Amino acid sequence: MIDLRSDTVTRPDAGMRRAMADAEVGDDVFGEDPTVHLLQQKVAELLGKEAALFVPSGTMGNQICMKVHTQPGDEIICEAGAHVLNFESGSMAFLAGAQPRPIPGHRGVITLEQVREAVRSPAYYLPRTRLIVIENTHNFAGGTLFPLEEIRRISEFAREQGLAMHLDGARLWNASVATGISPKEYSRYFDSVSVCLSKGLGAPVGSVIAGSKAFIEKAHRVRKQLGGGMRQVGILAAAGIYALEHNWSRLEEDHRKARRFAEIVAGSRHIQLDMETVQTNIVVMDITAELTAAQLAERMAAKGVLLVPMGPRKLRAVTHLDVTMQQVETAAKIVRQELDAL
Ligand SMILES: *Cc1c(COP(=O)(O)O)cnc(C)c1O
Repeated sequence: MIDLRSDTVTRPDAGMRRAMADAEVGDDVFGEDPTVHLLQQKVAELLGKEAALFVPSGTMGNQICMKVHTQPGDEIICEAGAHVLNFESGSMAFLAGAQPRPIPGHRGVITLEQVREAVRSPAYYLPRTRLIVIENTHNFAGGTLFPLEEIRRISEFAREQGLAMHLDGARLWNASVATGISPKEYSRYFDSVSVCLSKGLGAPVGSVIAGSKAFIEKAHRVRKQLGGGMRQVGILAAAGIYALEHNWSRLEEDHRKARRFAEIVAGSRHIQLDMETVQTNIVVMDITAELTAAQLAERMAAKGVLLVPMGPRKLRAVTHLDVTMQQVETAAKIVRQELDAL
């Protein structure tokens, strides 16, 4: 099987497993796991924040941050295709009790002008705008990059208005490799940041959130309320440290593989693919043939290629460290052949 459903499907390699087995551990609910401390310190430094907290998933990371930033009834501005809005089981409403104010972006990017229009005036009968969430890279838009200049403009405005800024940086590592802009430079415009270790970096579990010391103290409490306090979890933190040290710099290779995949499938008359969106390790394409994305995915699976339907006509492929360039080319050619035969 050539599994291109997600960059989360990778399995820890021998080196990572060894690092996990050798990890020094303690009870992290008592704050006594040295490996967790090390990971949190490392990520806080990488993101230029005072403190960081290890959490089980990117979803929990985002949701804790949104909970800490808002009160029930507050409004959260995000892009219409945002992960926090569409792929987290409605937990923005469930946990924070906040309501979303979605803005349709262009390739996942929203502008200061759009944000300015979406912010509510302070009348008592209106919801209170409290938080702006930016996703970089943007998953649903096809792994697209959010320009730093626009982040800077939006964050200046947010400061003026007293609004908080959260970065869903599940794939911030990919953004950084693609642009050469450091995670710290991206993060300085945000009050909180969430990054994943279990996507392209290849760790089996885990995300980290970062912010000010006071913010992380509040986040720590919410994590416990959600049942996210973990014990000898240095075993997982060790995988995260290993992933940062060994698998970050190689992400460029995943980006090359995604471009190659896109070039091959884009040649099909039954595929509509905006090559401008292929900026990192994700390819999102629309099927224009008399066939749904789910049907094509099923046919592909029968031929040994796994892809994920993202809508009735939308199909996603994601490259990662467990597929070779050759496998990616083979997968793309199989998709192409199947469509050409229609
Ligand atoms: C994967 C992802 C998350 C978090 O997902 P989990 O599966 O909960 O770890 C958050 N935001 C984006 C943009 C993602 O792609």
